[in-house]
Amino acid sequence: MTNQYDKVFEKLGLHSSADALYFFPRLYEDRRNLPKIMALSSGDMALIKVTLKTLVHDNPKPKLTLTRCILEDETGLISGIWFNQPYLKKVLKVGMSLIIKGKVDINQYTREKQISVSEFEIINSKDDSSLQPITPIYPLTAGVYQSQVRAAIKKLIKDKVPLMTDPLPDALVKTLELMPLKIAITQMHIPSSDDLLKKARTRHVFDEFFYLQLALAQRLSDQNTLYPGPILTPQDHLAETYIAQLPYTLTAAQKRVIREVASDIKSGTAMNRIIQGDVGSGKTDVAAMAALFAIQSGYNATLMAPTEILAEQHYIKLSARFASLGVPVYLLKGKMKKKEREQTIAQLNMSQNYLIVGTHALIEDPIVIPNLGMAIIDEQHRFGVMQRQILKKKGHSPHCLFLTATPIPRSLMLTVYGDLEKSLIDEMPPGRTPIQTAFLRPSKSEDVYQFCRNHIAQGRQVYIVFPLVEESEKLDLQAAINAFEDLKQTAFNGYSVGLIHGKMPPSQKQDVMAQFKNGTLQILVATTVIEVGIDVPNASLMVIHHAERFGLSQLHQLRGRVGRGPYQSYCFLIADPKSDTSRQRIKAMLDTTDGFKIAEYDLKIRGPGDMLGTRQSGLPEFKVANLVADQEILLTARKVAFHIIKNDPDLSDYTNRHIKKILTQTHGQFIQDQLN
Ligand code: ADP
Ligand code: MG
Repeated sequence: MTNQYDKVFEKLGLHSSADALYFFPRLYEDRRNLPKIMALSSGDMALIKVTLKTLVHDNPKPKLTLTRCILEDETGLISGIWFNQPYLKKVLKVGMSLIIKGKVDINQYTREKQISVSEFEIINSKDDSSLQPITPIYPLTAGVYQSQVRAAIKKLIKDKVPLMTDPLPDALVKTLELMPLKIAITQMHIPSSDDLLKKARTRHVFDEFFYLQLALAQRLSDQNTLYPGPILTPQDHLAETYIAQLPYTLTAAQKRVIREVASDIKSGTAMNRIIQGDVGSGKTDVAAMAALFAIQSGYNATLMAPTEILAEQHYIKLSARFASLGVPVYLLKGKMKKKEREQTIAQLNMSQNYLIVGTHALIEDPIVIPNLGMAIIDEQHRFGVMQRQILKKKGHSPHCLFLTATPIPRSLMLTVYGDLEKSLIDEMPPGRTPIQTAFLRPSKSEDVYQFCRNHIAQGRQVYIVFPLVEESEKLDLQAAINAFEDLKQTAFNGYSVGLIHGKMPPSQKQDVMAQFKNGTLQILVATTVIEVGIDVPNASLMVIHHAERFGLSQLHQLRGRVGRGPYQSYCFLIADPKSDTSRQRIKAMLDTTDGFKIAEYDLKIRGPGDMLGTRQSGLPEFKVANLVADQEILLTARKVAFHIIKNDPDLSDYTNRHIKKILTQTHGQFIQDQLN
């Protein structure tokens, strides 16, 4: 790296030229037509170019330093103020030219103007980088100035960019009309027009998506050759018998997805399929069928769920339905008594062609499942990529089926789950009426309870949910318990009210769930443990307290607990939203019950990282790309990447030599290698 700039880059944590060239501005400011002091109004967030006329440093209180100044341009004066920035003493000198950003205040009586400075820049007379038409603003750390970074990067570009090699094949750059890399790097730092800047950005967005998609395409192609997957050939008719005994007929969407699974497992490559279907769309039957496909072909199957309650519920439902087929179903949980567990394992060892239902614990469990033909993971969005991989190691290469009720926006799907095939259950079982949703302030709780009592009188059941978020878990738990006690004695005095929360022992949870399911309990007060998968068709009312504290997909999941039977169902969001995002979430819930729309909203409100939980989801971090705004580019990048891998699976073509290198090292490493 160029020596004289080492210090600047070092302070910014940029350890190589490649890092520095890819250290892109966080924003660009249009400094072509800055407003004049005369034109400023109270409340403006203003950006002005001024001269520093006077400067006073002041310590009015022990912990307060004020830096006051008078600033001037050709149209007038404004006073400026900084709070608690004692280092300014060393930096600012009267006579300097400055760019100042801050909030403007105009005194009502004196008409004096003041600006509270949030950012400033000293204009260097030798270097006019701060007055470029499109001025790059870098993310800084203490002790580094914009002008220094700009100068350092400018020099670096001059020295290093000529040495760069564009790893993309020329033909590709031409056909896609991408900006060549050298220009795209330069334009990000020293944009010559809005249009070129946009093109430069597009090139980097493309790169970010493209290498990821290449990796996914390659993983998929490797998987298909390395893990052929058992070819399941039925020796029995268990699956057909299962369908025949259902008290309803499957929807067309369920049938279609089952056919997709059936064709995967005959193909000779291990299935990797994710099924998206809104809450209540009937994914359990699809899972049961997939398990039976394996079992009737002489293999075993697993079904994993994110919570014990859900695993137990699956276990109860499926062991009843599989009993008549003569298929054993076992339950393995994290918190099992040693003896109980040993017993289950002993039974397992003696039987074959079975289904094991379990929680996450199944993945970490040392238990080996011989002959695993089908691994099904329910509510897949809660599982990380790692877990998916460990699971695959359990069997040699079982067919894998993932189920999710959190509809994943397409762009996320293609990145995080880009190596999975997709199926969609886009139809609800017949006879369901859309859930009606209402938003009420806490002061209206009593009206909601009256509504609940009326419905209970008609034989319906009610969920009342209180939030339980991790940071304040203890407090929240106590609040939920108190509310439960309180409701029992007031609004629902004389009713049978149950409580369920995550901290209860599993057997107790199971009891409460059973009582709610068989109708002994009319009201279930719950924390979010009921969020996923719980199925009680007679429950038609969902009351969510402090709805402002839940995430959008959580709210949608909770609402999905009702509307599962033939009755008109209702969801009451009781909330006192204070922030914009919580208001947006509630509005989204009122606007639609379509899980996909909700997911798109969620992606917009929260951003992809938060939506999936970056760390556990395996979502890569993008420096430039935005999954919401850049979907088009993503689709192109994916198409191109998959096309390349299809024609040249190990990238052995000469034209692909650079991109091959990038896949085996990293993009940054490749760039750096050219610069040394
Ligand atoms: P989810 O997709 O949320 O897992 P479930 O599989 O739990 O949904 O199904 C929700 C409810 O709908 C269950 O009570 C189930 O028995 C019922 N169900 C599933 N498929 C159908 C169908 N084709 N017709 C009628 N009811 C169905
Ligand atoms: Mg389910």
